Amino acid sequence: MRLFRRSPQTDAATEQALERTRKSWFGRLATVFQGSDVDEALWESLEEVLIGADTGVTTTMDVLDRVRAAKPRTSEDVRELLRAELAGLLRTAGDAKGRLWGLEEGAAEPDAPAVVLVVGVNGTGKTTAIGRLAHLYRQQSAKVILAAGDTYRAAAIEQLQVWGKRVGAEVIAHQQGSDAAAVAFDAIEAGKARGVDVVFVDTAGRLHNKQNLMDELAKVRRIIERHLGRAPDEVLLVLDATTGQNGLSQARAFTEFVDVTAVMLTKLDGTAKGGIVFSVATELGLPVRFVGTGQGEGDIAPFDPDQFVDSLLAEPART
Ligand code: GDP
Repeated sequence: MRLFRRSPQTDAATEQALERTRKSWFGRLATVFQGSDVDEALWESLEEVLIGADTGVTTTMDVLDRVRAAKPRTSEDVRELLRAELAGLLRTAGDAKGRLWGLEEGAAEPDAPAVVLVVGVNGTGKTTAIGRLAHLYRQQSAKVILAAGDTYRAAAIEQLQVWGKRVGAEVIAHQQGSDAAAVAFDAIEAGKARGVDVVFVDTAGRLHNKQNLMDELAKVRRIIERHLGRAPDEVLLVLDATTGQNGLSQARAFTEFVDVTAVMLTKLDGTAKGGIVFSVATELGLPVRFVGTGQGEGDIAPFDPDQFVDSLLAEPART
């Protein structure tokens, strides 16, 4: 089952979500590229825009070194090379690491139920991400189970139950304070018994301390692996775009303890620093699969490297 493809609507939503980033940073490039000279001022402006938009210093320097090395003669050449470099970074990180998303056309799918373990710090939009993805699968008439694995917070369990009702997905939940791995176990059992297509396993984003949290996530992952006979088909890290480089260092802890295979970058509409996408690709080496484009239930778009870079470098007339 292919989750969903780019469409004119999702392209427009991504472009709209990038408006703040374009207005604050990338929009400046229009003036830079209007001049024909390839001089130091141009390189400085590019550096300022990329770093300012949270692309990360190392990534920015590497990208600009490669563009320079190609010896562009006009500013239009620079724009074209920059476009290709940035999209190339995203494409390289975009290779499938899991078994569900970003696969070649016609690739074999895992046996049902597919299991997606969802991790991330509280407040990043993890529950909303699960709700939106479940909604997309439900739109394709897939059977979906949501496992309320953030047993630390009663509110998290309730919120997932609300999403389950809203999108028509069964929710497997235990009481607050119960064992998260047991919830995952039950959800997989139920998924197998009821011919479910996809099981989303929510997890805690915060426990007494970081070690507790990482131990718990590792345990949930182990239980899934043992019971499913394979690792989770995707481990989705939900990352809040507005937290910038700070969010990135939090993300590293998750990548160390659970083998993350994909990223959903939420709140792209709420940041002027959409360049964080490039840092995710180069510093975490992970593919961004989805972006959150607003507050609504359907505000999710598939991530496409070329379209993303084109939107960033779009002429101001389009903003
Ligand atoms: P959790 O604690 O990680 O489960 O976070 P929630 O799913 O409860 O989301 C936290 C807040 O972020 C909620 O108010 C969501 O509506 C909001 N949110 C989530 N995704 C997006 C997004 O893509 N754009 C915007 N603007 N808000 C979002």
